[in-house]
Amino acid sequence: MDVYGLLGNPVEHSLSPPMHEAAYDAREIDARYVTFEPTEDALKTAIDGAAALDISGVNVTIPFKQTALEHTNPDDIAREVGAVNTIEFLDGEMPRGYNTDVAGVKRAFHHHNITIDGCDAVVVGAGGAGRAAAFALADAGADVHIANRTVERAETVAADIGKRATAGGLETRDLISDADILLNATSVGMEPDSNKTPVPQSYLHGGLVVLDAVYTPIETRLLREAAEVGATTIDGAWMLLYQGVVAFEIWTGQDAPIQSMNTALRAELAEMWQHISML
Ligand code: NAP
Repeated sequence: MDVYGLLGNPVEHSLSPPMHEAAYDAREIDARYVTFEPTEDALKTAIDGAAALDISGVNVTIPFKQTALEHTNPDDIAREVGAVNTIEFLDGEMPRGYNTDVAGVKRAFHHHNITIDGCDAVVVGAGGAGRAAAFALADAGADVHIANRTVERAETVAADIGKRATAGGLETRDLISDADILLNATSVGMEPDSNKTPVPQSYLHGGLVVLDAVYTPIETRLLREAAEVGATTIDGAWMLLYQGVVAFEIWTGQDAPIQSMNTALRAELAEMWQHISML
């Protein structure tokens, strides 16, 4: 049996095990996906140990994505973004680090038949998700503006991306009125603050494609209000799904069974939401 895993802290409520195990079942791969919570100090030992134990591949999540860069040989995208979320073990070589969050954002748009190339995009948020999203959109050919409560963080992301990117604070009305894509990568609107939205409805318009990285709830206030003005909406589960899809493809060399993974992920999210709603 093959073993895949997730290194993070905490990982108790991770959605990755059911999503990946649904893929193994659909592809008749004899494998399990298990979660590990090493301390930050033990991350290198954990990665080396996983390789020594012949673990087939690991994902890395908060708070280890940046540190994992130092313990792997990152590909160009992971190096540029400054974060690794997927590790492939290769015989006799340093583990290879990837950032499938970036590919996940691009594939989420592609799934909805949205062409990013040539678009004007506004990314609200400049944390881990905002950084990956802004790099993805710029890499796919969009002009990207990063808006963040802490403006310096947005400026750092824009500077790291280079000439296509600009940065500023949360006053985005004029930028959004001219934009084709709006991507929320703040935690605003996430449970327990699901009555909040990062962008007032009056800024939204029917020409936008709005992706909200928040996935608890699946239909955030931002997405609901965007749909009301006629915008195209993409929920955060698509982004989560496709980072897993790309990791599966790296590890197995096979096309991922996207539908099976999506069904398992959404069933898990529905169960999680039901649990949250009862609290
Ligand atoms: P993070 O690194 O902690 O960044 C949080 C971001 O939210 C920062 O830009 C922060 O601004 C902003 N923020 C927080 N509270 C705010 C407020 N009250 N008003 C305005 N801005 C606020 O977190 P992250 O990992 O990027 O995650 C952000 C969200 O994306 C979370 O909801 C997470 O669940 C989701 N996410 C989804 C996926 C997916 O695959 N769908 C993947 C990763 C993350 P400051 O810089 O000013 O603090």
